[in-house]
Amino acid sequence: MLTIKCAACKRKLWKYQKIGKGEVLRCYKSRIDREYEYQRQGDKILCSCGKEIGIDKGAHIKMIKKGFIYTGSKQN
Ligand SMILES: [Zn+2]
Repeated sequence: MLTIKCAACKRKLWKYQKIGKGEVLRCYKSRIDREYEYQRQGDKILCSCGKEIGIDKGAHIKMIKKGFIYTGSKQN
C-alpha cells in the first residue's frame, strides 16, 4: 500500500493499492483505500495547501508528477 502525499507540504492525501513496479502515473479510484484531506476545483485535485496533485478522469486520477510523493510499498 502506498500513502500518497503532497510534494509541497507532505500532507497525506490518500492510500493507494499500487500493483506492479512502474511509476505512479494514475490512481484508479477503485484501488484508493482511504482518503484523507484534499480539495477539488472542477476536475482538478488539489492539496489543501493549493498544490495541484492530479486531474480527475472519471475512473482514475491522472497524477501530476511534480505534485506528489509517496511512501510505502508497491504490490508485485
Ligand atoms: Zn500540500
